[in-house]
Amino acid sequence: MHVPTRTCIGCRERGAATELLRVVAFIDDSGEQVGATFAVVPDLARKLPGRGAWMHRDPACMAAAARRQAFARALRIAGKPQLDALAEAITGAGS
Ligand SMILES: [Zn+2]
Repeated sequence: MHVPTRTCIGCRERGAATELLRVVAFIDDSGEQVGATFAVVPDLARKLPGRGAWMHRDPACMAAAARRQAFARALRIAGKPQLDALAEAITGAGS
């Protein structure tokens, strides 16, 4: 049986799509990127438009992705990612 897989942008390991968290870059209402940062938000329902990236629900993977600037690369967006909402989703989802 074929299970779709995705690659985590943090640790670069592949996992079942169901086990990975989809994240997207949140751009404000105007559709314009404001300033030199962008917010990375979790797409829990997997329905947000735009280019998504996938990662484990793991703070280590988030940190690795941030360190390697994988968010900007995976989401095709320039600037520095704001990870507050994502961090909250990951740490708040715990056990
Ligand atoms: Zn990972």
